[in-house]
Amino acid sequence: MKTDVANRYIWFKQEILNVNDAKINVLAPTSQFGLNVFEGIPCYWNETQQQLYAFRLADHYKRLAKSAKLLQLDCKYTKEDFEKALVDVVRANEYTENVSVRQTLFVDGFGSWGSDGPVEMFVAPIPRGNTSAEYNKQGLNCCVASWRRISDNTLSPRIKCGANYINSRMGQREALRNGYDTCIFLNEAGKVAEGPGSCLFLVKDGRLITPQLTDSVLESITRDTVIKLAEELGIEVQERSVDRTELYASDEAFLCGSAMEITPILSIDRYKYEYSEESLTSKLLAKYRSVVSGRDSKYQGWLTPIYK
Ligand code: PMP
Repeated sequence: MKTDVANRYIWFKQEILNVNDAKINVLAPTSQFGLNVFEGIPCYWNETQQQLYAFRLADHYKRLAKSAKLLQLDCKYTKEDFEKALVDVVRANEYTENVSVRQTLFVDGFGSWGSDGPVEMFVAPIPRGNTSAEYNKQGLNCCVASWRRISDNTLSPRIKCGANYINSRMGQREALRNGYDTCIFLNEAGKVAEGPGSCLFLVKDGRLITPQLTDSVLESITRDTVIKLAEELGIEVQERSVDRTELYASDEAFLCGSAMEITPILSIDRYKYEYSEESLTSKLLAKYRSVVSGRDSKYQGWLTPIYK
């Protein structure tokens, strides 16, 4: 029977357990120092096909393995193990709705931040109602953070690790304190980087502009998806360094990510944008939704069916 959220099943150290029984000791490097790498993997329910599709699973696992390698986490699990764990735990919960799956490799045991391991894994499905995807689909009022985005020479944004999100938190909490929904970070060089958990696109004169990956940006799978879908729709995309004033001078803007999907920005620092059913952002969002939910046959290769 389908589980309720408070008692959902979680894959934890090779077992499927009630989430309340999945315990990590307080001294583990993951608890104390945020020493873990993770993915948030979106899975979309297709009612007509009675199927749940995991989106771009192979790309998520490639990034997870790369994050682990960069932090020298010696992981005993293979990409096949990653996938089997995800499929098993989502099936155990019998989800027939959109879910986001948090798949985390963490440093367990009693070591310090320099610890070698042991490296363990949990896989926790999160019904989509509990993620930021549900918040404010009408659009976001943003500010430019007074904090800078972490940089490749300090704490690389290319590594998707727990500790990086403390920088995200500083920007996000500042934005909320000052009456905004979220923030956009500049990098150490003062160029536009990304949001606390999403990438940024601007629309100017019918063209898409997004900060290049070497400007302190996560190698986002949604960013890559947007670029590919834009190509199919015949929209020019520029990946390059972006100045702060370009934020205010653009026609439309949106944030994107596995949880955010494509979420329009209504304003940045109170400079307003156009957003309507006819806007480019709306067109891309409609295309994105049809691709992720399996309604667009061209992109079946990006989808992994969870149920047999
Ligand atoms: N940037 C940051 C800092 C993020 O945390 C995320 C969410 N993973 C993204 C961008 C978007 O990445 P993706 O499209 O792979 O979810």
